[in-house]
Amino acid sequence: MKVLIIGGGIAGLSSAVRMAARGHEVHLFEGSDKLGGKLHEFTLDGYRFDFGPSLFTMPQYVLELFDIAGKDVQDYFEYKTLDVICRYFWEDGTRCSTYKDKEQTVRELADQLGENEDSLRKYFASSQEKYELTGRTFLEHSLHQWKTWWTRDVARAMTRLHKLDLMGTLHSVNSSYFKNPKTVQLFDRYATYNGSNPYKAPGMLSIIPHFEYGFGAYIPKEGMNQITSSIVKLLQDMGVHIHLNTKVTQIQKNGRKVSGLMTEKGDLHEGDIVITNMDAYFTYLHLLNDPERAQHVLRQERSSSALIFYWGIKKEFQELDLHNIFFSQDYKNEFDHISQGSVCDDPTVYIHITSKYIRDDAPQGCENWFTMINVPHNAGQNWDDIIERSRKNIIRKISRQLGEDIASLITCEYVLDPRILESQTFSYTGSLYGTSSNSRWAAFARHPNASPQFDNLYFVGGSVHPGGGIPLCILGAKIVDDLIHKK
Ligand code: FAD
Repeated sequence: MKVLIIGGGIAGLSSAVRMAARGHEVHLFEGSDKLGGKLHEFTLDGYRFDFGPSLFTMPQYVLELFDIAGKDVQDYFEYKTLDVICRYFWEDGTRCSTYKDKEQTVRELADQLGENEDSLRKYFASSQEKYELTGRTFLEHSLHQWKTWWTRDVARAMTRLHKLDLMGTLHSVNSSYFKNPKTVQLFDRYATYNGSNPYKAPGMLSIIPHFEYGFGAYIPKEGMNQITSSIVKLLQDMGVHIHLNTKVTQIQKNGRKVSGLMTEKGDLHEGDIVITNMDAYFTYLHLLNDPERAQHVLRQERSSSALIFYWGIKKEFQELDLHNIFFSQDYKNEFDHISQGSVCDDPTVYIHITSKYIRDDAPQGCENWFTMINVPHNAGQNWDDIIERSRKNIIRKISRQLGEDIASLITCEYVLDPRILESQTFSYTGSLYGTSSNSRWAAFARHPNASPQFDNLYFVGGSVHPGGGIPLCILGAKIVDDLIHKK
């Protein structure tokens, strides 16, 4: 069979591996001059920066791609386990770290935040139980096939619905476990892992810490971009036809089937199967010329976006690690602003520094700071104004907490805002993760992987089931592979 894939984000690349491993002729069309979508890198004045994703969890899904291709992963991809997962900072001087070792994290949060050790252990156990009860069903299968629901796993989960914290919000569930508001804030933060709001997202999202503390956090040896570069090398070795700078402008429809696609260059490519990694909204609007269905996709709330300052910093900070969070003083206010489409003056700041682990990512004695705050998706706000104000607020906040004038240490800068994210990766409104999980029904409302309209059209990527983030995008490709080959 001839398979046509639109878009070379991580989900498109993973789909290409799976289709090629089945022996199909695979053509992947990427509109820009590089593969990886949000998962790519760039250099600036001697500093290397990962453009988007910074936290690498669930490496087994990446490894599986090399496995099914019959290749030795060590020839392509290497990664390290992080002992320290994240460093946390508060304005009153409180600091703590979380670790790969769950018990070490329990002791640290007990010592630094005065938290009850048993409450922490119960919380981690509950997070793990949620994963064991629902993880495979929700993440590895299509929710739109009735046979997904006729399994022993689902029957077991149904008898334990009360364990899934479906009724409260993530914040209310976390507040029921912990007495220190700082611990609540630390675990509320996991809602942002898929661009959601802890005061709206269901308590079920307390499953997310299990991905980090149960399976660990990692860093690819050459940075996040190595996930992309290693899969691209694999695709080349598998003989996949990669068409860069080739934007797809139309999917050819033929009754209940699609027959191929048209590119911006005017070339027509025929195929037996089309897999689109383009944002589902844009796929309907531009490629299928179906504004009505495009609107239907929009009934679900978009995920938040990001404002990122990539800074070359001419100093090294011992107190910082790979992942660092400087919390806002009023988390609720921060998310209220995001919900209303604005950005508060004291946002939580995330600093990601790969030169801590990859020495060549910054010149000697310097660090590469990926400095990010959560912001709403693009709805026509005055981003230039927001950037100017937020830059000042972030610099003031970090300078206060590190006791250094950060502005004077910045040697080079690149700024990413939701507008750039949208134009560079064709992600509608610049949402990081497609749609948010701000409702209990979000998982069910997300667009399915198989087209409801066309028998041989499939959807993968952050804007469709099972959602955004690298692990889920890779799993989406696996679901599509199953749907196609079990048909
Ligand atoms: P995208 O990355 O959205 O790529 C889609 C590709 O399709 C693009 O290359 C685009 O050019 C191409 N394309 C679109 N339309 C067409 C067309 N018509 N023709 C041809 N090509 C087309 N995830 C994590 O797991 N951990 C993190 O720490 C993390 N942090 C993040 C931080 C930031 C700043 C961002 C932006 C994202 C982050 N994410 C994180 C989310 C993660 O990056 C995304 O969910 C994931 O990379 C999305 O992959 P995708 O396959 O949906 O495609």
